[in-house]
Amino acid sequence: MIRVVVVGGGIAGLATAWYLTRRAPPDLDLSVRVVEEERDPGGKARSVADDGVVLERGPLAFLGHVPDSHALLDGIGLAGRTIAAAPSAARRLVLHEGRLRPLPSSPRALLTSDLLSWRARLRLLREPFVGRAKEHDESVAAFFSRRLGEEVVPALVEPFVTGIWAGDPARLSVLGALPRLALLEREHGSLTRGALAAWRARRRRGAGVAAPALRSFPGGMGELPRAIADDLGDALLRGCRAATLARDGSGYAVEVEGARTETLRADALVLATPVDAARALLDPVDPDLGATLRTLPHAGVAVVVATWPSDRVRHPLDAFGFTCRRAEDRRILGAIFHSSVFPEHAPDGTALLRATLGGVRAPRLLDRSDEDLTATAVRELRDILGIDGDPTRTTVMRHPRGMPQYDRGHLGRLAAIDGKLREHPNLFLTGAAYRGTSVDDCIRNGRKTASHVLRQVLGEATRAGEGRGERGRGP
Ligand SMILES: Cc1cc2nc3c(=O)[nH]c(=O)nc-3n(C[C@H](O)[C@H](O)[C@H](O)COP(=O)(O)OP(=O)(O)OC[C@H]3O[C@@H](n4cnc5c(N)ncnc54)[C@H](O)[C@@H]3O)c2cc1C
Repeated sequence: MIRVVVVGGGIAGLATAWYLTRRAPPDLDLSVRVVEEERDPGGKARSVADDGVVLERGPLAFLGHVPDSHALLDGIGLAGRTIAAAPSAARRLVLHEGRLRPLPSSPRALLTSDLLSWRARLRLLREPFVGRAKEHDESVAAFFSRRLGEEVVPALVEPFVTGIWAGDPARLSVLGALPRLALLEREHGSLTRGALAAWRARRRRGAGVAAPALRSFPGGMGELPRAIADDLGDALLRGCRAATLARDGSGYAVEVEGARTETLRADALVLATPVDAARALLDPVDPDLGATLRTLPHAGVAVVVATWPSDRVRHPLDAFGFTCRRAEDRRILGAIFHSSVFPEHAPDGTALLRATLGGVRAPRLLDRSDEDLTATAVRELRDILGIDGDPTRTTVMRHPRGMPQYDRGHLGRLAAIDGKLREHPNLFLTGAAYRGTSVDDCIRNGRKTASHVLRQVLGEATRAGEGRGERGRGP
């Protein structure tokens, strides 16, 4: 029997385990165990429904239609259960000079947006004629400044990057954080030409030209890990923490404590935990690999969720939400209008809002108490959205070091990690810290990790003379 242990039952670990069980050749005697510290799987992707309100701990939505996510949803019987975000969620706002204004969502809107001076708008027209990058690993700020002009960075890029990464465009690597844009430039020499080519290709395929809607589930994103966990059954060890790791022949021995105390032997081991936990486990096995993981930067965020009766909110909340430019000098990074995006997640007449604090911009804010963070978020939401009175409920969710930052040098750091992993052919790392942070990225990379694991274990089985030919190699 070939034993694979996955440590971490967040989206990445669950997707890896699910694809392992589904893609393994039927004649492979494979045992998969997922060790998850918490009783409730999902990691950051967990939801609590209370009094008709869905509280999301982390992600609010995903795309779901991308191939690996769709195959997973189909396989666990959730494909027909997704709900689409309201059309108004396509509108994103930015707090600009004290007022909420729409972020341009098309080239035409960009050219007419009053978020940019006329000079900056004229500069946009030069984009198709700007040369390719000379520097290999450019920051997001440098990339946009070079292609679209300096003014777009504080006006548009910084709010966008804050909304997704809680990061700093001057530090984030365009290759690491926005690889598709870097590819557009490389392949087409210009974002405009690349976007046009992509638009034409979509039309040729008969696909709609509008961006696909974000999706969730009636009970929130937590339905996804719960359904994967149900499908995995006994393979998931809930409430079990991987406490220590040791080499065991060509594999590993994982000491588990919590709901069960035992030693799991693994022919192949997947670490799908946040980097700090992976590092702590790996330090005794390979301190150099542990040290390399330590080089991956992270930011922490806190999410303050608050509800008010809708008639107390003067703003129509007809958008996904807003982000605050750094120049606005606000404590919150922005807020999502959760009850507008997914009206199913709040009772009629309730405005459910979700403000984010911290990030690279204000890391020290996370040292403050929950009461302090709540008071700050409530004060600023009331001011920006014109809300009267106190919220009817508030909740704080913290994610210290919860947002990986793909800063400049990220690809080099990944190459160093891959180099170290070559010394450990039966060890695999997956999750948000490496090659994509979104839920869809974690599922895609979980599927890829499962393929790598199967290739490795099947190769070993073949070398051990178990008669597994080329036909059985990899999914
Ligand atoms: C506030 C916030 C909002 C977000 N919004 C979105 C969004 O709207 N859309 C989107 O696509 N993405 C969003 N993201 C990103 C996305 O949610 C995460 O990147 C993704 O869920 C991370 O999944 P993961 O499996 O890599 O890690 P985690 O979810 O962190 O899972 C790791 C798991 O490992 C377990 N673990 C750790 N140590 C051990 C151990 N020693 N033994 C056993 N188990 C262990 C943990 O308990 C946890 O369950 C958001 C993230 C945050 C923080």
